[in-house]
Amino acid sequence: MKPRQILVTSALPYANGAIHLGHLVEYIQTDIWVRFQKLSRHECYYVCADDTHGTPIMLRAEKEGITPEALIARVHAEHSRDFAGFHVAFDNYHSTHTPETRHYAEDIYARLKAAGLIEVRTIEQYYDPVKEMFLPDRFIKGECPKCAARDQYGDACEACGAAYAPTELINPYSAVSGATPVLRESEHYFFRLSDPRCQDFLRDYTQRVGPRGAVLQAEAANKMQEWLGAPGENKLTDWDISRDAPYFGFEIPGEDGKGSGKFFYVWLDAPIGYMGSFKNLCDQRGLDFDAYWGKDSAAELYHFIGKDILYFHALFWPAELAHAGYRTPTKIFAHGFLTVDGQKMSKSRGTFITAESYLTQGLNPEWLRYYYAAKLNGSIEDIDLNLDDFVARVNSDLIGKYINIASRCAGFITKRFDGVLAGSDASAALMLSEPEQDRIAGAYEDRDFSRALREIMAYADRGNKYVNDQKPWELAKIPEREAELQIACSVAISLFKSLTALLAPVLPKLAEQVEGFLGIGKLTWADTRSPLPAGHRIKEYKHLMARVETKQIEALVEANRESLEPTAADHPAQSPQRHAQHQQATEDRAQHPPAESFISIDDFSKVDLRIARIVAAAQVDGADKLLTLTLALGTGPDPETRTVFAGIKSSYDPAGLVGRLTVMVANLAPRKMKFGLSEGMVLAASDPEGAGIFLLAPDGGATPGMKVK
Ligand SMILES: [Zn+2]
Repeated sequence: MKPRQILVTSALPYANGAIHLGHLVEYIQTDIWVRFQKLSRHECYYVCADDTHGTPIMLRAEKEGITPEALIARVHAEHSRDFAGFHVAFDNYHSTHTPETRHYAEDIYARLKAAGLIEVRTIEQYYDPVKEMFLPDRFIKGECPKCAARDQYGDACEACGAAYAPTELINPYSAVSGATPVLRESEHYFFRLSDPRCQDFLRDYTQRVGPRGAVLQAEAANKMQEWLGAPGENKLTDWDISRDAPYFGFEIPGEDGKGSGKFFYVWLDAPIGYMGSFKNLCDQRGLDFDAYWGKDSAAELYHFIGKDILYFHALFWPAELAHAGYRTPTKIFAHGFLTVDGQKMSKSRGTFITAESYLTQGLNPEWLRYYYAAKLNGSIEDIDLNLDDFVARVNSDLIGKYINIASRCAGFITKRFDGVLAGSDASAALMLSEPEQDRIAGAYEDRDFSRALREIMAYADRGNKYVNDQKPWELAKIPEREAELQIACSVAISLFKSLTALLAPVLPKLAEQVEGFLGIGKLTWADTRSPLPAGHRIKEYKHLMARVETKQIEALVEANRESLEPTAADHPAQSPQRHAQHQQATEDRAQHPPAESFISIDDFSKVDLRIARIVAAAQVDGADKLLTLTLALGTGPDPETRTVFAGIKSSYDPAGLVGRLTVMVANLAPRKMKFGLSEGMVLAASDPEGAGIFLLAPDGGATPGMKVK
């Protein structure tokens, strides 16, 4: 088979904040996929960069009293350190503030202009007369026009959720200087997305199915159809791609080789940063840039992104590329957001966990890689990091099933047989079958890592069964069964090598350690079903991976609790309410619809909400926040009851709860907690930081067991 030529990107992290576990979902997902391609001997390159431009960077640097260049250099070093710490192996991790990115930004702009797709228009915008700058929506605050909540951003209210234009705010003020902004006219440059050429192209492109499958996941393709409207409809609006000085970015070229005095909006040059980073790699390694980005490129191009930046990647970006004479992406892979224990990451709960703190607390990065992989299935759904499940899953799969095979068998080989393996027919019998190998490869290729790991763990179960049946620890006690002992352990070690090759995309560091221990070269996909030969000599087994201890997780959460106080000048990236990676999307929200958050009535009706009576309530020994509630779901003498652990201790005295009616989720999967089994959940309101808890109660007349709908 001819190796495929593949170029892969992850979205560019913004250069004013720390990498956290939410970001890592995407980088780990991408890295696993890239490592699988490389393991399969394809020519695959993974590039990324820091996204360095825009008002937030400019203001942050100013506040710190340094140049934007110094700020982005520091953050680049921090980001590079964090990614390396989680074994995210970019072929190139560059910056958008580079000559390469400037070159392609100017080139694409010039080609779009020549094609008649750039238009100059005068718009009215809020201007800070003290700071002497135009204000992005997120830097204007005031009272919400709908609910009058104070200190709301210029694009949306965090109190009532209303979206509006900054000009609708009551008593607006500049978040930069505090001054009252004034409306001022300015010329802006627009990319004409509403042009029929863009519309026609996007209607085709977003529904396209190529030789490697559909360009977009089904959910994303449907969303595009909504944004594009019915045939004949023109729902796309032109995109404002310029910003006024002062701005940290690239100046837009004007006439006669002079500058225009305007700057490219950060979102114009961010995806162009993919090209810039790859060009830089080409120059380092002598690769052919056009083979990957030229109009007729036969190479594959994949972008991994969060679902909230689909508009930029599935509409603006391909439309720009297509009309500037470059190739368009083969596929765009969107993923959902990370929740921790079913909720948004929160600083007050200590679940807004930075990459750096995870590593400095001494947690193994491959635990997280494995857990994310076990949760990722290639869809746009959010994934949940359940901390109890994390401990249980890592310990049972990685330690209990995988590492266990080597740790139980390797010692006999090195101590009794000088490290030399015996040959055996059993090795062949226990080998992964070809259909299994194909299924696992297919699951990796489809980014359905959870399916791949289920198959791999099923294979590990077969290995453990073999070891349990052979009982090497008993064979070792009987001198005349020495040969059987060598065979049993050799078969197990061969199987362990196959498992390691299967897991290598997820656990690259561990795979390297195993290569050293087994005395073999770099693993490839072929190693997933080839036993080690008789006579092969392994080295002494050294402990490969420790178990996760619950107290390590508790310490991690404690270390992150309120450790990142938001400050006034911070971009919303620092807010736990937002997924920081894609903060720029919110800088100018008026330009595109907010991330879709509707569910269907069918989704809603999956939740079985019932009126319940609290018949008993008690403190839980050793739990800071929990009460245990016994809930009755009926009215008779012996009603059905459920036990639920509820995090409401800070606001309620158990005695006062008994007899009250509330609302519970009756069909939530039971969850094993440290204190017992929780069989549902009661509903309560609280502010985003969890302060104040208010249990829901029905109006008079409702009785236990009634369905809430
Ligand atoms: Zn409001």
